[in-house]
Amino acid sequence: MPDATSERCRGCGAAHAAGAPAPACRAGFDRMLALEFELPAAFGPVHHLTVAAWQLQHPDGQTPAALHTWRAMVADALDGRATTDELRRRTGRRFVGPARVRDAAAVAPPWWPRRWPITAADAASPDDSSDDPSVGRDPAAHAHRVLQWAASVRATLDRAAPPPDARRP
Ligand SMILES: [Zn+2]
Repeated sequence: MPDATSERCRGCGAAHAAGAPAPACRAGFDRMLALEFELPAAFGPVHHLTVAAWQLQHPDGQTPAALHTWRAMVADALDGRATTDELRRRTGRRFVGPARVRDAAAVAPPWWPRRWPITAADAASPDDSSDDPSVGRDPAAHAHRVLQWAASVRATLDRAAPPPDARRP
């Protein structure tokens, strides 16, 4: 694949597809969210992980507390310490309003990774150009990709800095 593009996502390092207005990660994330909202019974169970993995890979503008919460959420979900419903409730409690999550001036800690083995572009459906509408719409395959993505986000963060106490209430 020719690498004529020099633009990369500031958060996750994903490249822009040639001529695309946004990095490939954004398109992948939008595609996953669309599936999870369109067919919540099938695709929704991993929605909290999709959102948390995305936020962790795009940390600028988020408060340290928000980043801590996303990180703990991924760990708790992957380790089976919290059910999907619990994770949703926790998010609702912590993030009452967007003002508490977003801080335009906030930048991630200097050690925060800027390149990741798996980005949202990789985690989304591998082939969205297919004419076959069933491609990329297998819930089990979707869940598998999101879980792998979240696990790699966690491992990348843990390599960069030891995990904070994820069990803190
Ligand atoms: Zn990105």
